[in-house]
Amino acid sequence: MSFELQDAVRRSEIVAYYQPQIDLETGEIVGVEALSRWRHPTLGLLTPESFIPDAEANGTINDIGGFMLDDGCRCAAAWRRDGYDVEVAINVSAVQLASDEFFDRVTANLAALSLGPQSITVEITESRAIADPADAAIRLAALRARGVDVSIDDFGTGHSSIEQMLGLPANEVKIDKSIVHRRTDDGDTVMRDLIEIAHEHGLRVVAEGIETVDHLLRARDMGCDRAQGFFLGRPAPETEITQMLAVAGHAI
Ligand code: C2E
Ligand code: MG
Ligand code: MG
Ligand code: MG
Repeated sequence: MSFELQDAVRRSEIVAYYQPQIDLETGEIVGVEALSRWRHPTLGLLTPESFIPDAEANGTINDIGGFMLDDGCRCAAAWRRDGYDVEVAINVSAVQLASDEFFDRVTANLAALSLGPQSITVEITESRAIADPADAAIRLAALRARGVDVSIDDFGTGHSSIEQMLGLPANEVKIDKSIVHRRTDDGDTVMRDLIEIAHEHGLRVVAEGIETVDHLLRARDMGCDRAQGFFLGRPAPETEITQMLAVAGHAI
C-alpha cells in the first residue's frame, strides 16, 4: 500500500473534493472543506478512511496533505479572483502538523498566490492521536498568529475532555454529526452545552452532517453559526463548486 500510495500522489490520482459550508444567518456559502479522494485505477473513487490511516503510518500523509494544502490554496485564490468570498478549510493530520515543512508550505502558498491568511482554515481532529499536544498547540498558535483560522474537527467525539480540546488555540469547532443526529432530549442537552461552551470561549460553531431539513433547523435554532452536510451540498470537484457559487454564492 505504501508504494502504491506514493505512486498515487505522483500520478495525480489523489484529488481534492470540496463541500460547501453555509452561514446559518444569511444562507450563503461562506466556506468549503477540502476532502481527499483517490481515483484508484481499478477500484474507483476511494474515500479517505481507506487510505489516510496508511498514509499517516508510512509518512505519505505529508505528500497527500501537501497536495491538499496546495490545491485548497489554489482554489481559494481562484474563487476570490472570481469575486467569491469563500474560505477553504483543509484537514491536517497531527503527523503533518508536527513537521516544520507544514507551516512553511502554508506561508509559501499564501505568498505565491497573494492570498490573505483568513482565506484558509486548518482543521485538526483532536480525537486522532496527537503524540505531543504541547508541540501541536505551539504550531497551531503560530498559524493563528499568521492569521490562519484553526478549527477543531469532530468536536464532542474525542476521548479527551472538552477542557483539553479548549486548550488548543482554535477559533472554530465543528460539532460531529453523531451529535447533530442525536435527536433525543439527552442529545439536545449535549449539543446545547457544547455550543454554549464553545461560544463562551469565543469559538465559531459549525454543525456537521446536515442530512435533512430537521438537522438544519435544529442546528440553526440551537445557535450554530455555520452548517455543512449532504442536504446542503455533497463533496464535489472544484468546477461544480464554482457553478454552485455562481448560483448561490455572493460577490465580495
Ligand atoms: P471530516 O473532516 O470530519 O470530514 C467530514 C466527513 O463527513 C467527510 O467524509 C464528508 O464527506 C462526510 N459528510 C459530509 N456531510 C455529511 C452528511 O451529511 N452525512 C454524513 N453521513 N457524512 C457527511 P470523508 O470525505 O469520507 O472524509 C472522512 C475523514 O477523512 C474526514 O472527516 C477527515 O478526518 C479525513 N480526511 C479527509 N480528507 C483529508 C485530508 O486531506 N487530510 C487528512 N489528514 N484527513 C482527511
Ligand atoms: Mg474536517
Ligand atoms: Mg478562515
Ligand atoms: Mg468532522
